Amino acid sequence: SGLARVADWCPTLSQVGGLGDVVTSLSRAVQDLGHNVDIILPKYDCMNLSNVKDFQFHRSYSWDRTEVKVWTGKVEGLSVYFLEPQNGLFWKGCIYGCKNDAERFGFFCHAALEFLLQSGLHPDILHCHDWSSAPVSWLFKDHYMHYGLSKVRVVFTIHNLEFGAQLIGKAMAYSDKATTVSHTYSKEVSKNPIIAPQLHKFHGILNGIDPDIWDPYNDKFIPIPYSSENVVEGKRAAKEALQQRLGLKKSDLPLVGIITRLTVQKGIHLIKHAIWRTLERNGQVVLLGSAPDPRIQSEFVNLANQLHSSHNDRARLILTYDEPLSHLIYAGADFILVPSIFEPCGLTQLTAMRFGSIPVVRKTGGLYDTVFDVDHDGGRAQEQGLEPNGFSFDGADPPGVDYALNRAISMWYDERDRFNFLCKRAMEQDWSWNRPALDYMELYHACHK
Ligand code: ADP
Repeated sequence: SGLARVADWCPTLSQVGGLGDVVTSLSRAVQDLGHNVDIILPKYDCMNLSNVKDFQFHRSYSWDRTEVKVWTGKVEGLSVYFLEPQNGLFWKGCIYGCKNDAERFGFFCHAALEFLLQSGLHPDILHCHDWSSAPVSWLFKDHYMHYGLSKVRVVFTIHNLEFGAQLIGKAMAYSDKATTVSHTYSKEVSKNPIIAPQLHKFHGILNGIDPDIWDPYNDKFIPIPYSSENVVEGKRAAKEALQQRLGLKKSDLPLVGIITRLTVQKGIHLIKHAIWRTLERNGQVVLLGSAPDPRIQSEFVNLANQLHSSHNDRARLILTYDEPLSHLIYAGADFILVPSIFEPCGLTQLTAMRFGSIPVVRKTGGLYDTVFDVDHDGGRAQEQGLEPNGFSFDGADPPGVDYALNRAISMWYDERDRFNFLCKRAMEQDWSWNRPALDYMELYHACHK
């Protein structure tokens, strides 16, 4: 069967947060189940095309009196169509956050559907992701489906209801099925006036991570390959390499890693508190964070300067987006902290476990569905056929963070064998797309019933 996916991000090409990972890895998982997947993206001028194989000009067509050039290539084994309107809408040096985003992505959605029609691609499912491809749903149902595409069904996935809620509401109304990226987040947003009327077609399907893209046994950014068999040795080497690279003291201390967009959603005040708490407990902290808001960026620059004077050998804040460095942090940290205020799914905690790092998270959304506290969640884990894998807390306040972080760091100091065993267990849990991809297949089939 054929499947076209319309999205605006793709990792290694142009990525801002988790959506780039998800579109790529879900598509790969569906393709691995024997289906055809094509991805349609804008061709941004700020894209890194060096990772695209067989990149070539495909054709051009006209939409709204503008020539649209189409390029093709392979990314992580997936076929991608890049649409480049010659009116320069995607030559702005940014992915989103430009003043005229509505115009840019409105044009893209129209142009993508026009391309579908003209190129004779006839997918079973059009799967759209978030606000930037939301218009596809209603443009398709109002217009394009009447041009020989009446058997095509539209699935719309909400990755974050905070962005473009009005567009998302309209897309949900027009799509055949709508999903969001974890069961708990789907419940958390179910009373939202945009979601409530559409609950009959709304499902929570957890995201996965791509175990080939995130694989400590085969990762060029970490010093020695490791699996759950040699996790202690592998992580020790990675921690030393991380300390060396960042100029931190090379000693065996509990290391807390934080890899995040620095936005209010991610629990900025809790992150700051956790940094100080970890230092008080004689731990090390590495934060890799990108702040789209200049005010938040400057707050963290100030904090970095303060830590430079007070704790230069034990804390490092790297305020940028750096995927290669993120691999070394996932591998070298003992704990990965994710204290989000809300979190539709969260990939960081899943990637952390893949690298044998223990997640310390706030109990919300997908974090609640994937992290099971060693002291409290044995029963809940068992219902999923799992065993506890981390530490979690409820309140969005410093005592909440302290409750989880103190227990985590104490286990590291006082019960090292138990801690090492926990790392091994976390690594062995399967957070890939194996299960979620089947859930999506079921949903795609249900669209055609
Ligand atoms: P969101 O999509 O809300 O940002 P997710 O947890 O779903 O949150 O996905 C975040 C993804 O982006 C993860 O793969 C994480 O490793 C990556 N990431 C976030 N911030 C950075 C950063 N500053 N540098 C490198 N990778 C980052």
